[in-house]
Amino acid sequence: MAGIVVVFDFDKTIIDVDSDNWVLDELGFTDLFNQLLPTMPWNSLMDRMMKELHSQGITIEHIVEVLKRIPIHPRIVPAIKSAHALGCELRIVSDANMFFIETILNHLGLRDCFSEINTNPGFVDEEGRLRIFPYHDFTQSSHGCSRCPPNMCKGLIIERIQASIAKEGNKKIIYLGDGIGDYCPSLKLTEADYLMPRKNFPVWDLICKNPMLIKAEIHEWTDGEELERVLLEIIGASSSMEDKSAAQTLSSADCKLQTISIGAHEALPKALSVPQ
Ligand SMILES: [Mg+2]
Ligand SMILES: [Zn+2]
Repeated sequence: MAGIVVVFDFDKTIIDVDSDNWVLDELGFTDLFNQLLPTMPWNSLMDRMMKELHSQGITIEHIVEVLKRIPIHPRIVPAIKSAHALGCELRIVSDANMFFIETILNHLGLRDCFSEINTNPGFVDEEGRLRIFPYHDFTQSSHGCSRCPPNMCKGLIIERIQASIAKEGNKKIIYLGDGIGDYCPSLKLTEADYLMPRKNFPVWDLICKNPMLIKAEIHEWTDGEELERVLLEIIGASSSMEDKSAAQTLSSADCKLQTISIGAHEALPKALSVPQ
């Protein structure tokens, strides 16, 4: 069942909050952040804020301690471990940064479940200050997508993932996300793929405005419990459909396998229905 690539957004999808906001709020830098936000892109401001934290004596250990207690729904870790154990390939596409994401995933024991993390570079420099850089260096060139922030177009990343898995055969993508930045990659998914938008979050609102623009099959979710159930149902149904076509190729008389496959397919949760 290596035919599924699950692509997760990170903030408010894997974890239940925005990691940038969490760190700044917990360390008391919210007001300064809000004051400076109108003056520069979010990603550049995060690097600037890390400079501010460092100059006020906040160490990397402080930041790590705050990241380790980030809120996460109790069913998210088991959901990710199950998807990985079922043979899916798991990747992250996030506008947070590598330092935050790896610190949290290592703490949760999930780092090895993911084969790839696409995010803004984040590392500790020789002075012990966390540096955060854009995934796409917009000072050199624009990524050319007007939907996305200057430092990252998740749609371009999905296109690269699609091109790389096309070489490996008939793979499907399941994409999970909540934010405005998850809309661009949602538009790139094909009829064979699945989109799991978080209900009543910005990406879901954008999808509902014109659902005809989305080619993938849409399955909404609201919290970690529903994410786990819906994700594992899609993986189960999708892989038994795969078994079915494989079985049909081998022997069209194998009725038992076909019955199991149809049963699993019917167990799929209802696709998102939205007003036309
Ligand atoms: Mg998010
Ligand atoms: Zn884009």
